Amino acid sequence: MYSSEEIHTFLSSSSGLSVDLIINENKRYLFTVLEKKRRSVRISLHRMFLEAPLAVLEDLSLYLQTGKKSFLMSISQFIDEKSYQQPYLQRVEPQALHTTGDYYDLPAILSRLQEDFFEHKGPNLITWFGQKKTRSRIIFGEYQPLLQLVKINKKLDHPSVPDYFVDYVVFHEMLHHVIPSSTMPSGRRSIHGPEFRKREKSYIHFKKAVEWQNKHKHLFFEGVF
Ligand SMILES: [Zn+2]
Repeated sequence: MYSSEEIHTFLSSSSGLSVDLIINENKRYLFTVLEKKRRSVRISLHRMFLEAPLAVLEDLSLYLQTGKKSFLMSISQFIDEKSYQQPYLQRVEPQALHTTGDYYDLPAILSRLQEDFFEHKGPNLITWFGQKKTRSRIIFGEYQPLLQLVKINKKLDHPSVPDYFVDYVVFHEMLHHVIPSSTMPSGRRSIHGPEFRKREKSYIHFKKAVEWQNKHKHLFFEGVF
């Protein structure tokens, strides 16, 4: 375990840059380059980096010097491993969760799936989240590992959305807890790898749910939901 001063000293001396280092507790951005100039850099690292092996810090320093993405591989591997470990999990205040729906009861869905498919080893927290839509894609669900929290788009809380589809989205996000993303040797992140896809198909209404999604996706853009 290093102190933030030690990391700062190491990165400054090994990269030859003037490093402005922020150690954060942020849930989402575990490593961010906030500003890069020719001789200086401002970065934000999650406090998990205080436990990073020297090899990871060396790659970090090389990345700051060169900007070469190949140096990011060991860094994202490190993040992948740490993100699922106890001390980095963050508490979610129960009042921050919005679980009451007009049509669907998320905690009930979660606990039923826990029992039927996950032997109670899946995540225990679930919430609705507000509209999130890009021009080409709607995000139905998300999983946040540091919070062990499943987030489901409020748009699915609608009588025209069948229960097997809501179940499927919750199931998919719960799977992210059980099968974490990993970094492939090429440095690319594998989020829905072969094991994930195989397990996803074990959901009983998988085919029906995917068909419903393909057939009705456009309605979410047309404001029907
Ligand atoms: Zn996914």
